[in-house]
Amino acid sequence: MYQHHPLPGPRSDGEQPDHAVAILSVEGHSPGVRIVDVNTDYQRLWGGTREEWLGAVPIVVQQQAVNQQIFTQLHDALNLLSQDSRNTFEGLGGREVSRRHDGSRMHIEWRISAMGANHHGPMTLVLTQRDVTEQMENEAQLEQLATTDMLTGLVNRARFDAVLKNELNRQHRYARPLSLIMLDIDFFKDINDSHGHDAGDQVLVNLAVLLESNLRRADCCARWGGEEFMLLAPETSLEQAVQLANKIRVAIKTASFPIPGSVTASFGVVEVHPQESVKSVMKRVDNALYLAKEKGRDQVSPIEVLTSAKQA
Ligand code: GH3
Ligand code: MG
Ligand code: MG
Repeated sequence: MYQHHPLPGPRSDGEQPDHAVAILSVEGHSPGVRIVDVNTDYQRLWGGTREEWLGAVPIVVQQQAVNQQIFTQLHDALNLLSQDSRNTFEGLGGREVSRRHDGSRMHIEWRISAMGANHHGPMTLVLTQRDVTEQMENEAQLEQLATTDMLTGLVNRARFDAVLKNELNRQHRYARPLSLIMLDIDFFKDINDSHGHDAGDQVLVNLAVLLESNLRRADCCARWGGEEFMLLAPETSLEQAVQLANKIRVAIKTASFPIPGSVTASFGVVEVHPQESVKSVMKRVDNALYLAKEKGRDQVSPIEVLTSAKQA
């Protein structure tokens, strides 16, 4: 039988709910899960008084459909338990987006565990819930920092690598067209030398804005390093990618940058082959860019130069 133990009380610092706890009773052969006791953090999270919660159906997360799924899962696990005494209930848990009783959005981490396993008759469970919104937001912020280029705000090389791998896998599965464009500003060293490093930085920032304004949402644009950028264009054939690269080339050439004269860039373009590796596609696009430089810069090259020509 359930015995009453005092539950953790309110926190003295008066902060947001930390560990909401509800003690639940469950009948082994019926679907009824009812609250036997709740702590003050539970009341703070979901509203209501302790008296109002006693005997009520617990809230794991605010959305009823998700709540229902969790209870179905719980009953399946408990049914297995009652069928064979060798089974043990390991508990359930997860992280969900939910809303607090005041309507504000939150991330909640929850766990339901058994309080002394009992295979027959009533069983006591403990539901614990923790508001992990701040933690999730911090993690998202860190992730954002780790995947963003500080100067331009574009995704960085590490993130682009991951996106490219992902898209290649998708391409292998669904055989959809996928193209890659690599661009490099022409004579950027001269821009730095003539106008200073800060002006050079500003050119990179403006170029990033220009690139993003010329892409579709599904495209991924990254700063690959220095004055080199990568564009990954899903659902785009070689011919379409060449058109896109030319459009961007003209946009760069005709845009005004915070330095006198115009800025130009050279472009390598490739379409990913079926089953092609990351290494191979990167090598081909690099070779194509090399050829665009060789042919005089300010141009788009979809043709790969032979490795031997590059070495010559
Ligand atoms: P090419 O047409 O052959 O590409 O010539 P380039 O001068 O653009 O190429 P090079 O590789 O000789 O020089 C690239 C320069 O880019 C050298 C480096 O100092 C500069 N650079 C790299 N990263 C940054 C940056 O973050 N800010 C600024 N201002 N300059 C950078
Ligand atoms: Mg370069
Ligand atoms: Mg360059």
